[in-house]
Amino acid sequence: MGRTKSRKPHAMMIPYPLQGHVIPFVHLAIKLASHGFTITFVNTDSIHHHISTARQGDAGDIFSEARNSGNLDIRYTTVSDGFPLEFDRSLNHDQFFEGIIHVFPAHVDDLITKISRQGDDPPVTCLINDTFYVWSSMICEKHNLVNVSFWTEPALVLNLYYHMHLLISNGHFKSLDNREDVIDYIPGVNAIEPKDLMSYLQVSDKDVDTTTVVYRIIFKAFTDVKKADFVLCNTVQELEPDSLSALQANQPVYAIGPVISSESVVPTSLWTESDCTEWLKGRPTGSVLYVSFGSYAHVGKKEIVEIAHGLLLSGLSFIWVLRPDIVSSDVPDFLPTGFMDQAEGRGIVVQWCCQKAVISNPVIGGFLTHCGWNSILESVWCGLPLLCYPLLTDQFTNRKLVVDDWQIGINLCDKKMVTRDEVSVNIKRLMNQETSSELRSNVEKVKCHIKDAVTSVGSSDTNFNSFVGEVRDKIETKLCHIMG
Ligand code: UDP
Repeated sequence: MGRTKSRKPHAMMIPYPLQGHVIPFVHLAIKLASHGFTITFVNTDSIHHHISTARQGDAGDIFSEARNSGNLDIRYTTVSDGFPLEFDRSLNHDQFFEGIIHVFPAHVDDLITKISRQGDDPPVTCLINDTFYVWSSMICEKHNLVNVSFWTEPALVLNLYYHMHLLISNGHFKSLDNREDVIDYIPGVNAIEPKDLMSYLQVSDKDVDTTTVVYRIIFKAFTDVKKADFVLCNTVQELEPDSLSALQANQPVYAIGPVISSESVVPTSLWTESDCTEWLKGRPTGSVLYVSFGSYAHVGKKEIVEIAHGLLLSGLSFIWVLRPDIVSSDVPDFLPTGFMDQAEGRGIVVQWCCQKAVISNPVIGGFLTHCGWNSILESVWCGLPLLCYPLLTDQFTNRKLVVDDWQIGINLCDKKMVTRDEVSVNIKRLMNQETSSELRSNVEKVKCHIKDAVTSVGSSDTNFNSFVGEVRDKIETKLCHIMG
């Protein structure tokens, strides 16, 4: 028993194979390792291949530099998601996610079995899995692992999915056409309008098929999370106290965000990063708008054209991140003819960049975003107000937090189809110091909350330390039980 007590906790961490999940998982891995955990970090072969291609060579062990500089015990391995590397996961979305539900867990199971057979020291005793994996509890039960679910988005979104049964029983699910009344029965949510729900919940009964893979993931993942021993949330207690309390009434949930690091030595980008430093040099403070729709959402060609014209009309400077697959991986040309020439000198388009480095440059004065949660946290961290253009599911709910609750951003457009005039008017409103002064002072307040949270006496750091203590105890109990 004495020997068991001295064993280090060893957690396997598996992010969802998407950019916005891999990044916070990497930061969490480093944080846990610096608190005495041994970590085995698992990327899919495909994610590893993308990271390597982005760096124009095999990325190798992505943690090697972090491990050496911080003396951290982080091991890195990859696993097949069940598809060949060449398979276009973005174009074949549904087929890919069927694999993530049905095939991927078999590979994870096999990996854990192999690692435990090879007698790793210390043995893997904990799995920190992305909340979207529907098979976490199955794998944890089979391998007798402490089950930790990492939710990389705001607590409000988790809370709404968590209480989906209430939306169903109150008739707010699948009722886009006939219900506009406010939802006021979700614990910890004062009131939310149906239009602010995640888009998958805002559907019409007559044209939605809830047997598709996305719905099966949603139904299963948020049932499975209820079996987790611990839930970690990349948010801040002071920003979402009510949703967090509602969740905490059911199981241990820790707000430990923002899991962010300004200086990361771990390569995570899935596309080659352009260096924007030279271009930004010498420009006036706060004069450049940063535009990005994240790593995953697609934007229609028509919308891209309107945004492009709006940027030109505004007369302002900008950096626009446009992934090669932003419209679709089989539509490579989407910008209006002559756009690059007209933007010459005051705007650049890059396929990807180191976002945190770019937006922390004082020349950047605002962020036009799809409301991805990491982008929101990073924007606030850098004191930037947001112009919101939600595109996908949870981003509609994130928008509510930004625009309605915290009032640190404005909407890009009212209706679904954005127009060039709206783009131009709202960009100017965001970037003008006078018209955006209230937004900017609100951003400063929220920024204080999130920066305070990660100081040594802040809520996130305190929550993180409590989690570390609790999970260590749970692991010890499991080990004592196994070893007798
Ligand atoms: N990001 C980046 N370079 C870019 C665009 C985005 O490094 O050119 C990073 C960004 O810093 C963030 C992540 O990619 O950490 C995107 O996550 P988010 O939650 O904002 O959106 P998602 O991609 O999940 O839709």
